[in-house]
Formats: sequence, structure tokens, C-alpha cells
Amino acid sequence: MTLKYIQKVRGKRYKLQSKDKRRPGIICPVVAAKKFDDLEENNIKPSTTAEDAQLIRAAIQKNDFLKNILTEIHIEKMIEHLHERKVSEREVLLEQGNYSCNLFISKCGTFQVTENDKVVSKLDGHPTIFGEVAVLYKAKAEQTVQSLSEGVVWVLDCVRFKNLLVKSAIERQDELLRYLKNVPVLSTVPEDRLYPLIDLFKVQVFPASTLIIKEGEVCEKFYIVTAGTALALKRGTKKVEKLPKGSYFGESVLKKETSSSSVVANPPGVECLVLSKTEFFGHFATLDDLLRGKSEQNAENFEYSKLDLINFKRIRILGIGGFGRVELVQHVKKRELIFALKCLKKHEIVGKSQITQVFNEKNLQMACDNNFIVKLYRTFKDSKYIYFLLEPCLGGDLWSLLRKQNRKCFDTDAAKFYAGCIVEAFGYLHSHDIIYRDLKPENVMVDSNGYLKLTDFGFSRIVHPNEKANSFVGTAEYVSPELIQNKPHDKGVDYWALGIFIFEILTGKSPFKNDEHNDLKTYKLILKGIDSVVFPAAISPRARNLIKRLCRPLSIDRLGCLKNGIKDIEEHPWFSKLDWGKLRSMQLEPPIKIHLRGNTDTCYFEEFKHERDDALDDYSSWDDEF
Ligand code: ATP
Ligand code: MG
Repeated sequence: MTLKYIQKVRGKRYKLQSKDKRRPGIICPVVAAKKFDDLEENNIKPSTTAEDAQLIRAAIQKNDFLKNILTEIHIEKMIEHLHERKVSEREVLLEQGNYSCNLFISKCGTFQVTENDKVVSKLDGHPTIFGEVAVLYKAKAEQTVQSLSEGVVWVLDCVRFKNLLVKSAIERQDELLRYLKNVPVLSTVPEDRLYPLIDLFKVQVFPASTLIIKEGEVCEKFYIVTAGTALALKRGTKKVEKLPKGSYFGESVLKKETSSSSVVANPPGVECLVLSKTEFFGHFATLDDLLRGKSEQNAENFEYSKLDLINFKRIRILGIGGFGRVELVQHVKKRELIFALKCLKKHEIVGKSQITQVFNEKNLQMACDNNFIVKLYRTFKDSKYIYFLLEPCLGGDLWSLLRKQNRKCFDTDAAKFYAGCIVEAFGYLHSHDIIYRDLKPENVMVDSNGYLKLTDFGFSRIVHPNEKANSFVGTAEYVSPELIQNKPHDKGVDYWALGIFIFEILTGKSPFKNDEHNDLKTYKLILKGIDSVVFPAAISPRARNLIKRLCRPLSIDRLGCLKNGIKDIEEHPWFSKLDWGKLRSMQLEPPIKIHLRGNTDTCYFEEFKHERDDALDDYSSWDDEF
């Protein structure tokens, strides 16, 4: 698809810079347990001596990105897993613009670093690291590195390394999958459908003699024993059964039946992985649905259940995303029914390992019911595409609206209103234990009333209080330091992003943006912190105070994560003139009115040309639930 960079809204022409592109989201998920095993099988024996280790440590200390994200344990692991490789003269180790998942440390030899065909530096003498951004995710190299002589490098396969960082979590997942497959009622469920369940399990330890479930009562949870033992007791038959590691109980919860026995923890206690009923049924309606692969449709969505793709006329393309397009569609008979239809190419979802994201989008966005979140009514599929039937937002996205302002930014009142809409969306999501993880103007839609709505839930996930998530996800300019440091994270990532968002809409530029679009440079700036950022005059002292309190280095210190939760943000002096009650009930005048000539007017969207449909057929069954 091609994009025209001149756009007209009500006769006014806006020029969008071709280099000014929507920023892509990045994800480096925890890799499936099976893949991890494969890696371990090919394990390369560590080849580093004590002397090498010292040189490597020195190289890490010289690298101001890695030294800030690697802990002592990470460095140990890294040294263990580096392997030595001979390099021939003129060998290209990294090529600018090409994907790489290796980090290199030069050991001996001379290397030349070029950027856009210009020599940037020469490496000889001291060991130096290059390709380090791959530690976060498979990334395009920013520079080309070529050897000028024969030499030796240490290589770290960053996929392997990243996996090591989460090794224990993955082994646990692998183990859990095996346990789940042992549960008779789940034994016929295909592995790919059990996989999303794994993330929902939480560890819980029960001291000796705890009555975990009581015979005859309706179970609230399903348990798998992971350490220690428990006893299952049946009053009627007086049968006692010992439950060792790997056994499960409470499976009646999956069938919504009462428990047939009591379960008590044996000394010294039992550790279980626990899945709650609400979580299970939040994702899968009933066990039968899990087996058949259907998800629950809530009552409000029911009226849409009779709709089919052939009922819709395609009006035009609204946007092009990473995996397909979004089209405006109209019901052929009930012409007042207008939707945005997001069409995702199945083969690309599979090819780029985005299945979990698509499931997130479906399960989490569909579960949301809030004025500040784009409603997902239902999903469809055919041999080539997965379709999401979405509430249409005819004001376009906030990214475009921002660029259409004369000063490429919003005034304070507009910024307060827009930030208020996001606070409302976050308040709703976090109260449902959903963290969003990809706030940026590109993912925020403007509805016909001029209000904002969050969309694109691919990176969101459920994280309960006192729990953390692990994957590196987000958009470079918006990720928080704990993500860059590979640390577990929580809803604090959203409040950090809110601070960045407020900065961006007030100034037109996010605080850690660098003009070279170099993610590594962005991450280095983020690690330096918000206090190193120069705040332009457009940001008032109150706004600056709010942004700095949202962008604290530690998640627990951020406004929104303190004991008063989101109230602290609402009561911040910057928002003092915003009537939250009226905002919530959508009675406030929006700062920018959206003028539409009917419900199919697409004047707020760029023009996209239809191109050849290159989507491939995909008949594998991963999408049975859609
Ligand atoms: P990416 O992976 O690049 O983020 P995506 O495939 O997830 O993209 P979206 O970001 O959801 O797709 O949507 C792409 C574009 O389609 C948006 O920028 C927006 O312009 C348009 N769009 C998405 N949802 C809607 C909607 N509900 N109403 C109107 N337009 C929409
Ligand atoms: Mg998007």
C-alpha cells in the first residue's frame, strides 16, 4: 500500500512528512518452552578463560548501555554463554539495516565501523562490544562492522541470552504444560490452545494443614502441585490419596461443579500453581468452549453474533498496520451500522510469531467496556485473514491530529483533556488488572465527539497486584527503564508512558527521541532519566512536575502506583481545572471538534490505495477461537 502525504480535511491541506512515520511497537516475548529446549540441546560449551572473563567485564563496563542493564548474575551468564569465533579478513559481522540477533565482542584483530558508508570508528586493541541492542530484541543493525584483518570475536546469541534471563520462568512453563496435559479433561486440548492458559497460573504456597478446598463446595480455583505434597480426603468413602508434585486438584472448577474431596496441605507445606475461576472464564467461556475453541460472547455482543462478513460493504481503507489494514465497512441492509474492520494477514501473524498478541487483542479488548476504549464487538476469520469488528472512530488517530496543529502540538487545555481521556482508560484497565504497555499517539483514536479512545491491545496483558510481567514490549521512545533493564514490570510502565505522552502532546516531540531514529541512543537517554531532559517552555511548571512524578525511575515511586493509585494523578494541580465527572460522562466540550458529513465521512484519514492482495492461505488451527 502507498501513502499520500498530502491530506485534506474540510478543504484544508496538511502536509505530512514522509520521514515522519508512525512508530512501530517492539516485542521480545518469553520464548516457548519447546524452542528453549532446542537451544539447550545445541548448547555451545563455554570457551572463556578467567583472563577472557576479565576482558569481557572490562568491555561491558566501557559500554554505557549494557553496564546499565546487566546485573552481576546476567554478566556471569553472559560470560558462560559467549563462544569464541575466528574472523577472516573483510568479514562483515553486522550489516547496517539487516536484522541481527548476535552481540559481538572483539577479542583481537582490527574492525571498522561504518554508518551510511562513512567510517565512524576503528576498533583494535581493547575488546569492544557491538550489536548490543540485540540483547533486547532481534533488531536491525544501526552500523556495519567489518574486520580489516584476521581476528577473533566472542559471540553471544542474544535469543539464547534473553532466554537465559527468563530461563526459570520458561522451565516452569514447560513443566506446567506437561502437567496440564496430564489432566484428563484437558488432555485432548491442543497444546497451542493450552499455551495461553499458562500465563494465567500464579504460584501460591500453603502452610502445612491448610484446608485448600473443601469437599462439597464449589471450587474457585484449579491447582497443580509443584513442590511438597497434599492429601485428598473423601468423607463418604474415607479414601485418602496423596497428591505429589505434578498432581492436580480442583478440576471441578473447569466444569463448574462442586468438589468431590477436601484437600489439605502436608507438612512442611505445599506449593501450587493456581488458576482462578474468574481468570479461566475471563479467557474461555467453559471447558467445552476451550475444547471447541470458542470464546464467551457477552450479552452486549450478542446482537452482533448473527453478523457475517458478507453482510458488509467495504467503503475504504482507514489505516495500514503492521499486519494488514483497517477498513471502514457498512452493513448492506442496516446502513446505520458502520464499523472499522481490522483485517490481519494470518500467515504474517504466524510468520512473525504474533499469535499471543492477536489472542490478547481479542480476549482483552473484547472484555473491555469503557467510553475511552475502542469497543471490539466480535471477530471473524477466513482462510487468509483474522478480522476484528471494531467501533469506528472517524476523527482519525491522535498521531495525525497532532501533526495537523499549526504548532504540531496541543495547547494546555487540549492536552489536559486528552491526557484525562487516557487517565480514564488506564483507570478502567488497571482496575481490571490489565496493563496496556503501548501508549503512544498512534494507538489512540479520536471519535466523532472529539473524545479519545485507546485501541491496539496486542501488547496488553493481565497482571494482578503483586505480580509482574517479563516480556520486553512497547515502543522505543515510550518504554520505561525497567523494560530496558530486562526487569519484571507492572502497571508502572503505563504511568511512565503517560508522562512521555503528556510531554509529547504538549511539545510535539517525545522527551527521549533522537533525530537519527536510533533505538539504542533512545534507550541510553531513557536510562539517564527524565531529570536529564531539557523541558521546553511549552511545559508549565505544573506539567513538568506531573511528568517528572510519572517518570520516576522506580515503578513503585510513580504517581498512579502510590497508595492513592490513580487519584493522585487526577488530583495533581496540572489537572485542577479539568472536571473529571463531566469528562467521564462525556459532557465536556472537546478542545477540537470533529466535523463530519455523515457516518461514512473519512476526511480525517490519509488516503491509501488498494494493492494486490498478497495474503496467503493458512489452514492451521491456531485460530479456531476466532
Ligand atoms: P501496528 O501493528 O502498526 O500498530 P495494527 O495492525 O495493530 O498496526 P492498528 O494500529 O490497530 O493496526 O490500526 C492501524 C490504523 O488503522 C490506525 O492507525 C488507524 O488510523 C486505523 N484504525 C484502527 N482502528 C480504527 C478504528 N476503530 N476506527 C477508525 N480507524 C481505525
Ligand atoms: Mg497500532
